[in-house]
Amino acid sequence: MKDTYLGVHVSPLTYEGIVTEIKARMKHGEQSTVIAVNPEKVMTAQKDPTVKELINNSTFQIADGIGILLASKLKKGNIKSRVTGVDMMARLLKFAAAENHPIYMYGAKKEVIERAAVNIQRDNQGIIIAGTTDGYEQDENALIKRINDSGAKLIFVALGSPKQELWIKRNMDKLPNVLVFQGVGGSFDVFSG
Ligand code: UDP
Repeated sequence: MKDTYLGVHVSPLTYEGIVTEIKARMKHGEQSTVIAVNPEKVMTAQKDPTVKELINNSTFQIADGIGILLASKLKKGNIKSRVTGVDMMARLLKFAAAENHPIYMYGAKKEVIERAAVNIQRDNQGIIIAGTTDGYEQDENALIKRINDSGAKLIFVALGSPKQELWIKRNMDKLPNVLVFQGVGGSFDVFSG
């Protein structure tokens, strides 16, 4: 059962719980979307119904940010621990490496994504990075073709919020073989360091 804060859903699942569910959904060919929720996004959602819908229509809303945890304590909710976007991505990278699912990375500046890809390859033995595209690519159709041709099963999109979530919503139907979509904000910058 998901918690709801000012009309915004948040999943109480842990990293492991989410990976387990994603694995099962992938077996059935079902697409999953992961979105990080923090108090700032909950407030944005109050003013912007598009943002609220983007969050609530995602498969997994993770409790990024300590504020959600505090709200859960006050409300006696089900969120017992933080699930940050960057750690969720790290956990999904391990899963992808272990199960030979190719990944695609889209977003951030060219030098950032290149360094992040090198570090991810080094830290996740055997991971298949099917492709990378920096976040300033303009030709969306060409990008969609490139991702489809790459064979990627998971994609991490780092364009900032809500740009990355809008991109995912707009394009997931055009990427039928990609089964996991995570909007990761500044995570490539973290992995590049
Ligand atoms: N970014 C991008 N294309 C854009 C706008 C932003 O690739 O058109 C990248 C930016 O380079 C950064 C990432 O989006 O690596 C996340 O930005 P930010 O930290 O502002 O996002 P947040 O995590 O705050 O949502």
